[in-house]
Amino acid sequence: MISEKMTQLGKKRSVIREIFEYGNLRRKEIGADNVFDFSLGNPSIPAPQIVTDTIKRLLETKSPMELHSYTSAQGDAGVRAAIAEYIASTFGAKSDPNLIYMTCGAAASLTITLNAIVNPTDEIILLAPFFPEYTVFAEKAGAVTRVVKCSEPDFQIDFEALERVISPKTKGIIVNSPNNPSGAVLSEDTIIKLAALLNKKSVEYGTDIYIIADEPYRELVYGGVAVPYIPNFYDNTVVCYSFSKSLSLPGERIGYIFVSPRATNCGDLYAAVCGAGRALGYVCAPSLLQYTVKEVLGKTSDISVYDKNRNLLYNALCEYGYTAVRPDGAFYLFVKSPEPDAAAFCERAKGYEILIVPGDDFGYEGYVRISYCVGTEMIEKSLDRFKKLIEEYR
Ligand code: PLP
Repeated sequence: MISEKMTQLGKKRSVIREIFEYGNLRRKEIGADNVFDFSLGNPSIPAPQIVTDTIKRLLETKSPMELHSYTSAQGDAGVRAAIAEYIASTFGAKSDPNLIYMTCGAAASLTITLNAIVNPTDEIILLAPFFPEYTVFAEKAGAVTRVVKCSEPDFQIDFEALERVISPKTKGIIVNSPNNPSGAVLSEDTIIKLAALLNKKSVEYGTDIYIIADEPYRELVYGGVAVPYIPNFYDNTVVCYSFSKSLSLPGERIGYIFVSPRATNCGDLYAAVCGAGRALGYVCAPSLLQYTVKEVLGKTSDISVYDKNRNLLYNALCEYGYTAVRPDGAFYLFVKSPEPDAAAFCERAKGYEILIVPGDDFGYEGYVRISYCVGTEMIEKSLDRFKKLIEEYR
């Protein structure tokens, strides 16, 4: 008898993937130019030239043995030192190479962190809307998930609702800002309030409550909006970082975990991270990519295209009568469905060959996610269709 749970997970693709696969079918049937696929969060701009140049240089100058060997399980010491230095100089946060663990992207960072901190029946709080895989990762780590909806219209944290859910069983809360799918960035004021509430509850229950800061979109912000660095505000923080989006490298699988030196017993916490990485087989992240990111820390793909797409889509949809969250970051637009059933709205959109994702899987009903990490031309061509689509509801 094989694992029923895993078989189920393997057979049931995520809704996002289902829609993307439907798009592949339609592209074959009617041609790629006639399908307006806004389903995936796959960066549509190339990695910065310096990334390609660095990879080439590494391949040409480092000996293959040096380049392709296993690194330390937690990552190359020089790479971790460079990242620690980057964190200290960029965010002014206390850091330590021996509290950094190199990973295969944010998904691995999250899975490792959750397995490091969760004991059976512990609770992990998810702020809706959230990346759907959080539920899979947290439950596999043995946690029970509790969902707290962010408040409209700005999608900041609803503190009254959050306080009601925090209990002695609360082990952590996943904070994703800039957010997939809302595009909201949590303000400094929100982070300060969150830290105060978690500190109060930790003292009241005599527990440690962790913030797991899922930060693959940290650098994808527009109009000079600031993204507070959570370790500067809350001690028990573990940052789950990924280079997937900032450097347009999602297929290369590279990121890191940073355990804040200010966390309670940070050495033990880091040991648990190393233990979880070992137990999950997430050791020695890809060496070529480790050496590459070391050379390009702080570099970002040219996100001006996303900014252009954001303005184009947000302004047009609002003009047509849609209600949307104005995104300050990431590359998603979260739009209120004109009918209560967002899945039904997405089905209707398919009639215009527009592929968008219902918010239900993100824990937020009545909204849809539109990924604007696509070609600007496709957005321009789709606008008339979006207009006709909402006119059906008049
Ligand atoms: N967290 C969020 C919020 C995401 O949107 C994604 C990917 O889209 C991930 C984590 C996983 O990122 P990675 O590709 O680095 O594993």
